Amino acid sequence: MSQKVIIYPGTFDPLTYGHIDIIERGAQLGDQLIVAVSLNLGKQPLFSIEERTELVKAEVARINDANKRGLPVLVKSFSGLLTDFATQQGATSILRGLRAVADFEYEFQMASINKRLHGELETMFLMAAEQQHFVASRFVKEVAVFGGDVTSFVPDNVAKALKQKLANKNA
Ligand code: ADP
Repeated sequence: MSQKVIIYPGTFDPLTYGHIDIIERGAQLGDQLIVAVSLNLGKQPLFSIEERTELVKAEVARINDANKRGLPVLVKSFSGLLTDFATQQGATSILRGLRAVADFEYEFQMASINKRLHGELETMFLMAAEQQHFVASRFVKEVAVFGGDVTSFVPDNVAKALKQKLANKNA
Protein backbone atom coordinates (compact mmCIF):
# COMPACT_ATOMS: atom_id res chain seq x y z
CA MET A 1 0.00 0.00 0.00
CA SER A 2 1.29 3.50 -0.77
CA GLN A 3 2.54 5.63 2.09
CA LYS A 4 0.66 8.67 3.30
CA VAL A 5 3.21 11.46 3.19
CA ILE A 6 2.16 14.78 4.74
CA ILE A 7 3.95 18.09 4.24
CA TYR A 8 3.83 20.79 6.92
CA PRO A 9 5.16 23.94 5.23
CA GLY A 10 5.96 27.26 6.86
CA THR A 11 8.44 30.06 7.26
CA PHE A 12 9.24 29.11 10.88
CA ASP A 13 10.89 32.50 11.55
CA PRO A 14 11.44 31.28 14.21
CA LEU A 15 9.93 27.97 15.32
CA THR A 16 7.47 28.37 18.23
CA TYR A 17 5.67 26.00 20.61
CA GLY A 18 2.62 26.54 18.36
CA HIS A 19 4.48 24.98 15.41
CA ILE A 20 5.84 22.22 17.63
CA ASP A 21 2.34 21.31 18.76
CA ILE A 22 1.23 20.98 15.11
CA ILE A 23 4.33 18.87 14.28
CA GLU A 24 3.69 16.49 17.20
CA ARG A 25 0.01 16.05 16.38
CA GLY A 26 0.61 15.95 12.60
CA ALA A 27 3.14 13.15 13.04
CA GLN A 28 0.29 10.90 14.22
CA LEU A 29 -1.81 11.48 11.09
CA GLY A 30 0.19 9.72 8.38
CA ASP A 31 3.13 7.46 7.64
CA GLN A 32 5.58 10.29 7.13
CA LEU A 33 5.57 13.96 8.10
CA ILE A 34 7.95 16.34 6.35
CA VAL A 35 8.38 19.77 7.91
CA ALA A 36 9.16 21.99 4.91
CA VAL A 37 10.94 25.25 5.70
CA SER A 38 10.15 27.79 3.01
CA LEU A 39 12.66 30.35 1.74
CA ASN A 40 9.83 32.94 1.71
CA LEU A 41 11.81 36.06 0.88
CA GLY A 42 8.49 37.93 0.64
CA LYS A 43 8.25 37.87 4.45
CA GLN A 44 11.82 39.21 4.84
CA PRO A 45 12.67 36.62 7.50
CA LEU A 46 14.93 37.55 10.42
CA PHE A 47 16.73 34.19 10.24
CA SER A 48 18.24 32.74 7.06
CA ILE A 49 16.67 29.60 5.65
CA GLU A 50 19.69 27.61 6.90
CA GLU A 51 19.30 28.99 10.43
CA ARG A 52 15.54 28.38 10.48
CA THR A 53 16.01 24.83 9.20
CA GLU A 54 18.69 24.07 11.83
CA LEU A 55 16.44 25.34 14.65
CA VAL A 56 13.56 23.16 13.42
CA LYS A 57 15.89 20.15 13.03
CA ALA A 58 17.10 20.44 16.62
CA GLU A 59 13.54 20.32 18.00
CA VAL A 60 12.41 17.60 15.60
CA ALA A 61 15.36 15.45 16.77
CA ARG A 62 13.94 15.75 20.29
CA ILE A 63 10.42 14.90 19.06
CA ASN A 64 11.73 11.86 17.17
CA ASP A 65 13.60 10.64 20.23
CA ALA A 66 10.48 10.93 22.36
CA ASN A 67 8.23 9.32 19.75
CA LYS A 68 9.83 5.98 19.03
CA ARG A 69 6.86 4.57 17.16
CA GLY A 70 6.42 5.03 13.44
CA LEU A 71 8.64 6.85 10.99
CA PRO A 72 10.64 9.85 12.13
CA VAL A 73 9.58 13.35 11.18
CA LEU A 74 11.85 14.79 8.46
CA VAL A 75 12.88 18.42 8.00
CA LYS A 76 13.67 19.83 4.55
CA SER A 77 13.96 23.29 3.08
CA PHE A 78 12.51 24.43 -0.23
CA SER A 79 12.09 27.43 -2.47
CA GLY A 80 9.60 27.82 -5.29
CA LEU A 81 6.10 26.42 -5.46
CA LEU A 82 4.92 24.35 -2.53
CA THR A 83 2.84 22.14 -4.84
CA ASP A 84 5.96 21.31 -6.91
CA PHE A 85 7.94 20.48 -3.80
CA ALA A 86 5.09 18.39 -2.39
CA THR A 87 4.78 16.41 -5.64
CA GLN A 88 8.52 15.86 -5.75
CA GLN A 89 8.38 14.47 -2.19
CA GLY A 90 5.47 12.16 -3.04
CA ALA A 91 3.16 13.95 -0.59
CA THR A 92 -0.58 13.35 -0.59
CA SER A 93 -1.53 16.22 1.68
CA ILE A 94 -0.48 19.56 3.09
CA LEU A 95 -0.88 20.28 6.79
CA ARG A 96 -1.45 23.78 8.18
CA GLY A 97 -2.31 25.13 11.61
CA LEU A 98 -5.26 27.44 12.20
CA ARG A 99 -5.31 30.12 14.85
CA ALA A 100 -8.70 31.73 15.50
CA VAL A 101 -10.25 33.80 12.71
CA ALA A 102 -7.15 35.76 11.73
CA ASP A 103 -5.58 32.85 9.81
CA PHE A 104 -8.73 31.71 8.08
CA GLU A 105 -8.95 33.93 5.01
CA TYR A 106 -5.28 33.57 4.07
CA GLU A 107 -5.29 29.81 4.67
CA PHE A 108 -8.55 29.38 2.73
CA GLN A 109 -7.10 31.25 -0.26
CA MET A 110 -3.83 29.38 -0.19
CA ALA A 111 -5.52 25.99 0.09
CA SER A 112 -7.79 26.90 -2.84
CA ILE A 113 -4.87 28.05 -5.01
CA ASN A 114 -2.86 24.93 -4.20
CA LYS A 115 -5.90 22.77 -4.98
CA ARG A 116 -6.20 24.42 -8.39
CA LEU A 117 -2.49 23.98 -9.08
CA HIS A 118 -2.51 20.36 -7.96
CA GLY A 119 -5.98 18.86 -7.67
CA GLU A 120 -4.96 15.68 -5.86
CA LEU A 121 -3.14 17.43 -3.07
CA GLU A 122 -5.50 18.05 -0.13
CA THR A 123 -4.84 20.69 2.51
CA MET A 124 -5.84 19.74 6.03
CA PHE A 125 -5.91 21.89 9.13
CA LEU A 126 -5.28 21.30 12.79
CA MET A 127 -6.73 23.82 15.19
CA ALA A 128 -4.13 25.53 17.34
CA ALA A 129 -3.88 24.10 20.82
CA GLU A 130 -5.70 26.15 23.45
CA GLN A 131 -2.44 27.20 25.15
CA GLN A 132 -0.80 28.17 21.82
CA HIS A 133 -3.59 29.83 19.86
CA PHE A 134 -2.16 33.35 20.29
CA VAL A 135 1.49 32.41 19.70
CA ALA A 136 2.91 33.79 16.44
CA SER A 137 6.53 34.10 15.26
CA ARG A 138 5.90 37.77 14.49
CA PHE A 139 4.92 38.60 18.08
CA VAL A 140 7.74 36.54 19.53
CA LYS A 141 10.19 38.62 17.47
CA GLU A 142 8.55 41.84 18.67
CA VAL A 143 8.81 40.77 22.32
CA ALA A 144 12.45 39.73 21.81
CA VAL A 145 13.37 43.05 20.16
CA PHE A 146 12.34 44.85 23.36
CA GLY A 147 14.18 42.40 25.59
CA GLY A 148 11.05 40.57 26.81
CA ASP A 149 11.12 36.98 28.02
CA VAL A 150 10.15 34.66 25.15
CA THR A 151 10.87 31.34 26.87
CA SER A 152 7.19 30.44 27.27
CA PHE A 153 6.67 30.81 23.49
CA VAL A 154 9.78 29.13 22.04
CA PRO A 155 12.24 26.38 23.01
CA ASP A 156 15.46 27.43 24.78
CA ASN A 157 17.73 27.11 21.77
CA VAL A 158 15.38 29.33 19.72
CA ALA A 159 15.32 31.93 22.54
CA LYS A 160 19.14 31.91 22.58
CA ALA A 161 19.34 32.18 18.79
CA LEU A 162 16.93 35.14 18.88
CA LYS A 163 19.00 36.92 21.52
CA GLN A 164 22.19 36.38 19.55
CA LYS A 165 20.67 37.40 16.23
CA LEU A 166 19.27 40.64 17.67
CA ALA A 167 22.54 41.41 19.45
CA ASN A 168 24.46 40.92 16.18
CA LYS A 169 21.98 43.11 14.34
CA ASN A 170 22.39 45.92 16.85
CA ALA A 171 26.19 45.61 17.04
P1 ADP B 1 3.73 30.85 6.88
O1 ADP B 1 4.61 32.02 6.53
O2 ADP B 1 3.74 29.77 5.87
O3 ADP B 1 2.34 31.22 7.33
P2 ADP B 1 4.41 30.28 9.62
O4 ADP B 1 5.73 29.78 10.10
O5 ADP B 1 3.97 31.61 10.09
O6 ADP B 1 4.51 30.18 8.08
O7 ADP B 1 3.30 29.22 9.97
C1 ADP B 1 3.32 27.91 9.45
C2 ADP B 1 2.00 27.24 9.77
O8 ADP B 1 1.90 27.06 11.19
C3 ADP B 1 0.76 28.05 9.38
O9 ADP B 1 -0.25 27.15 8.95
C4 ADP B 1 0.36 28.73 10.65
O10 ADP B 1 -1.03 29.03 10.67
C5 ADP B 1 0.72 27.65 11.65
N1 ADP B 1 0.94 28.19 12.98
C6 ADP B 1 1.76 29.22 13.32
N2 ADP B 1 1.69 29.46 14.66
C7 ADP B 1 0.80 28.57 15.15
C8 ADP B 1 0.25 28.32 16.44
N3 ADP B 1 0.58 29.06 17.50
N4 ADP B 1 -0.63 27.30 16.59
C9 ADP B 1 -1.00 26.58 15.50
N5 ADP B 1 -0.55 26.77 14.25
C10 ADP B 1 0.33 27.75 14.07
